[in-house]
Amino acid sequence: MSLGEFEIIARYFDRPPADPDVLLGIGDDAAVLAIGGSAVVAVDTLVAGVHFHDAIAADALGHRALAVNLSDLAAMGATPRWCTLALTVPKADDEWLEAFARGLFALAERHGVSLVGGDLTRGPLTVTVQVIGTAGARSLTRAGGHPGDDVYVTGSLGDAAGGIALVAERHPAASAAANALRERFCRPTPRVAEGVALAPYASAAIDVSDGLLADLGHICERSGCGAVVDVERVPLSAELLTLFPPQQALAYALAGGDDYELCFTAPPAQAERIEAALEACGTPARRIGQLVAGEGVVCRRDGEPFTPPSRGYTHF
Ligand code: ADP
Ligand code: MG
Repeated sequence: MSLGEFEIIARYFDRPPADPDVLLGIGDDAAVLAIGGSAVVAVDTLVAGVHFHDAIAADALGHRALAVNLSDLAAMGATPRWCTLALTVPKADDEWLEAFARGLFALAERHGVSLVGGDLTRGPLTVTVQVIGTAGARSLTRAGGHPGDDVYVTGSLGDAAGGIALVAERHPAASAAANALRERFCRPTPRVAEGVALAPYASAAIDVSDGLLADLGHICERSGCGAVVDVERVPLSAELLTLFPPQQALAYALAGGDDYELCFTAPPAQAERIEAALEACGTPARRIGQLVAGEGVVCRRDGEPFTPPSRGYTHF
């Protein structure tokens, strides 16, 4: 991308940050940040055709590329501050770049995150965002869970998987429910405030990107225990249940990725504090099961063993 590379950066991405801790932002060989404490860093790549369908709008892609990273920081209980963007595009399309930047900056501004650097190359559409944040007094990890802890999820699960199905089929449904599910996939809401609020009380946390059973499985592995999920307790949205039969909705909720809710664990003694912390964020959470001795995630329905239709997404 020799032609116009620096014009593109200047026009679409170089917005002088208001943050005085950005000592040097876009324009030099690297950014310089005044961090003062522990940095929490995450990076995620979205590849066209793998992570998103060509039908996704450029502004949604800009939002999503940042959102998935903010979600990783949320799962750590960290506060996001800065990001970098490595963007590979097949051509310099003004309209596309304008919309992409609009989506990215709208979410960045909502969370007080400054874009401090990046890279721009020509090639198959690929977006890599890195987020840098600061840790609170206590970082949440996947490793702190113990048998007997309750397992919770925020919000509702399965909407994004339902939304992908609608986008991929170019589903004509223009109902409010169909639009809500497509939005859940295209513009996920990272649970940033919730992660920070939970950090003092939760024992372990992860964001649900690959599917509840797969991601709770990661908590189990890192915490050295197993989990039981009562599937009738898994929160499903009214929109999901409007558009899909109950069994399909549950399958999406258990194994569909991309919801970016938080799955977390906490000792039962913390239940009231957890509820108050999330209520202050205006976000519901539901207890869906428990950590147990042993390994792996098993499901129950109304107390009886239940075999889920599928367990989640892996790349290889
Ligand atoms: P270098 O050749 O040193 O890697 P570049 O020419 O790639 O530098 O980038 C010039 C400046 O523009 C750097 O400060 C870099 O961080 C910034 N930059 C490049 N691409 C982007 C982008 N997509 N978004 C934000 N900043 C970018
Ligand atoms: Mg470069």
